[in-house]
Amino acid sequence: MNNAVMRHPVASREQNFSFSTVSNSASAGTLTYLLNNTRPLDLHEQMLKAVRSPMAFPQDIDNLLHALEKVGIIIGAAQAAAKDTRVRHCVRCHQTYLERNNGFQACQVAHDKPRLIKTGIQANANTGPSGFKNYYSCCNQTVDTDSGAPSHYHFLGRHTTVETNVRYNSTNVATCVMRKCAGQVAARDVVIGQVPPVQSAAPIPSRPASRMEVS
Ligand SMILES: [Zn+2]
Ligand SMILES: [Zn+2]
Ligand SMILES: [Zn+2]
Repeated sequence: MNNAVMRHPVASREQNFSFSTVSNSASAGTLTYLLNNTRPLDLHEQMLKAVRSPMAFPQDIDNLLHALEKVGIIIGAAQAAAKDTRVRHCVRCHQTYLERNNGFQACQVAHDKPRLIKTGIQANANTGPSGFKNYYSCCNQTVDTDSGAPSHYHFLGRHTTVETNVRYNSTNVATCVMRKCAGQVAARDVVIGQVPPVQSAAPIPSRPASRMEVS
């Protein structure tokens, strides 16, 4: 037994870091450069690709996970969520999901079909030939007929079991009670033996969502 370590456990632990501090280590410099010069979405995409790659060595993925835990980026709650086999019902899109498959693009709600409304403006060279606009009742927004929807999705974000996280309306985002779906049963979270397969990644929308709600 090493008596020095027993007497001075803290000093011993610090020895591991005594040769390079976080601020001046070459690794920290490389990572800082990487983070400052990679767009968040690109980094996210690259990490997902690497983690899901069938060519990845399990040991490398383990090491990456342990490193992220050690620097405090991954917390226990994330690990628990990734292992959670409870099937939940989303009170926004009314699909069932596992928390491990939840994510910022998991819950997708389309806009209602727009209604053509008369603008009251006479057709001329400036206003366009129609004098009509598209009205999206779900968003209460009016847009030019040739400019598409106000956003790619009415909602794009995480599934949720918490109704207060949802912005309900009278058209395309209804409560479970209004829809008379499975979610209106008190036990929204049902544990089942069979775990559904991991979902494939949701397609990235061509335009960012106009609103994001986090459950
Ligand atoms: Zn909408
Ligand atoms: Zn959802
Ligand atoms: Zn529901």
